[in-house]
Amino acid sequence: MDNRALSATAALAPVSQDQLTEWATDLEGRSPLDILQWAAGRFSPRLTFATGFGPEGCVLIDLIGRHQLPIDIFTLDTGLLFPETRDLWSRLEQRYGFTIRGVAPELSVDEQAALHGDRLWERAPERCCEMRKVIPLRRELQQVDAWVTAIRRDQTAHRANALTTEWDKKFDIVKVNPLVRWSKKDVWAHLLRHDVPYNPLHDKGFPSIGCGPCTSAVKPGEDDRAGRWRGNAKTECGLHGPVIPVTSVPEPA
Ligand code: SF4
Repeated sequence: MDNRALSATAALAPVSQDQLTEWATDLEGRSPLDILQWAAGRFSPRLTFATGFGPEGCVLIDLIGRHQLPIDIFTLDTGLLFPETRDLWSRLEQRYGFTIRGVAPELSVDEQAALHGDRLWERAPERCCEMRKVIPLRRELQQVDAWVTAIRRDQTAHRANALTTEWDKKFDIVKVNPLVRWSKKDVWAHLLRHDVPYNPLHDKGFPSIGCGPCTSAVKPGEDDRAGRWRGNAKTECGLHGPVIPVTSVPEPA
């Protein structure tokens, strides 16, 4: 299986809302594997999966790997990932025998500091995520007709109404969400049943893991995403949420 190169084949004709509704209705009761197989048959090779190596992402990588589905996989390599996340990335590649592409932002962390000041994530996390995640993601998604995500309905209020297939208004392509109906328990049952590698930080109080500077452990009883951008109103990277206008960057203190 070569899941590395995105195809240069012509883009699909625009998808109507009626078509999307029909797909979402048909796929609502289907398993994540069924949905991935359907997506591969419908969109591959102009189909990609963007993973941040969370537990849900590891489930999808496992399904894609074990069933050899022709789905490109990449991760947004912000330059600020935990060492444990980098190690997991390598372990998954070794386990399934394919490359998970790293997609880097235009500026290195040092270049960003030189241009916008050190530790931008503390002063303007929206701007930092825009440059290090959203713009690189947009660049990748411009090359495909559909992308797979690992979102679940019970993760955030914004994700509660997610469908198995929907139009991604932010990136103007089809979004396929195979795990929307699954619970956190379902995800962990799958990982343990199939002995899928996962991030050891999950066993140390980090249920949701992003960039090192913006992720902290959660206390018992806290929401799973409470450790993301702690102390800031921000709750999403901007990859799945609504379009957020990015204002000017505050000067470093
Ligand atoms: S999660 Fe934090 S460090 Fe990473 S891109 Fe967003 S603001 Fe920057």
